[in-house]
Amino acid sequence: MYPGRGPRRKTLVTGGAGFVGSHLVEYLLELGEDVVVLDDLSTGSTRNLAGVADHPRLEMIHGSILNPQTVAQAMRTCDRVFHLAAAVGVKLIVEQPLRGLRINIHGTENVLTAAIEQQASVLLVSTSEVYGKNTADRLREDSDRVLGDPLLSRWTYAGAKGIDEAFAKAYHDQEGLEVSIVRLFNTVGPRQTGRYGMVLPNLVGQALRGAPLTVFGDGLQTRCFSAVDDVVPAMVDIERDPRSRGQAYNLGGAREISILDLAREIIRTLDSRSEIQLVPYEQAYAPGFEDMRRRVPDNTKAHDLVGYEPRTPLTTTIMRVAADLLARERLGSDAMPLVGAFRGVN
Ligand code: UDP
Repeated sequence: MYPGRGPRRKTLVTGGAGFVGSHLVEYLLELGEDVVVLDDLSTGSTRNLAGVADHPRLEMIHGSILNPQTVAQAMRTCDRVFHLAAAVGVKLIVEQPLRGLRINIHGTENVLTAAIEQQASVLLVSTSEVYGKNTADRLREDSDRVLGDPLLSRWTYAGAKGIDEAFAKAYHDQEGLEVSIVRLFNTVGPRQTGRYGMVLPNLVGQALRGAPLTVFGDGLQTRCFSAVDDVVPAMVDIERDPRSRGQAYNLGGAREISILDLAREIIRTLDSRSEIQLVPYEQAYAPGFEDMRRRVPDNTKAHDLVGYEPRTPLTTTIMRVAADLLARERLGSDAMPLVGAFRGVN
């Protein structure tokens, strides 16, 4: 606990114009919080915040976490930070590993050090990627990390996020930073785009267009998809609970499903005429690409702390994602002319 900290102030959400970030911002505003968003709009979009753009308790700042002054300025009035700004998506990381490393390591350290200066608490949003190729039946927070060759760009994301977590823990242990960590497992929902490789919006988009659903490899690799609506309240509850400081919590789905079955379920749910096309990994990604065969979370720790339970059925999420993609299509663009609502700080 920071000594002598004053009354509650604002909440900073880095990456607040992204997929998960925008849902979190809406939820915090619903709770009556004052929210500051810091986003460089590289993968996020002002359109994600269109529903709250005029909200009197929302301030939006267009800037990068790579700039320490920008971070310090954004955090000036805040006593709490949800740190979601990151380079995410396997496709993006594989294509631009240097950018990913810089943002995910240097950017995060900027956020952590600014938080110490401001005596702000931090929720560091990490990823199930940190477990790498560990195919354990249920991945616990203390499960081993099994990573491939660090020279394969695929592993730089897991490497960088692992360093972020280690930084957070070291700042907590040595400098008293109030930090908690969540590891998200394949979070899905409206506003997620398939552009950076995420499978569910990609396949839903293909099903809506009547195009073949591209399933990579043999399609027998499995994931546990979790709905953003289930994950966001748990993130807020975990951040609020002082017992979470210095700890990491898995937030994942309950149902393990192969990508082939996911494709079948999407076709069935949307009554699509699309077929399924198996695409070899070498064709989908760079040669030497390694995929995770399986990734199944043990959510017990978050359940025991804040009662986290993934409730939303996958078919509901598929329908919501489809409705969102259709609405975007109607609007004709991913970026509505809201950039004027963003204030540049540097
Ligand atoms: N995937 C697929 N078709 C796509 C995009 C992804 O079959 O169009 C596969 C991908 O190879 C992986 C799984 O779907 O096995 C989940 O991929 P995603 O990038 O969504 O998440 P992650 O690999 O981080 O779990």
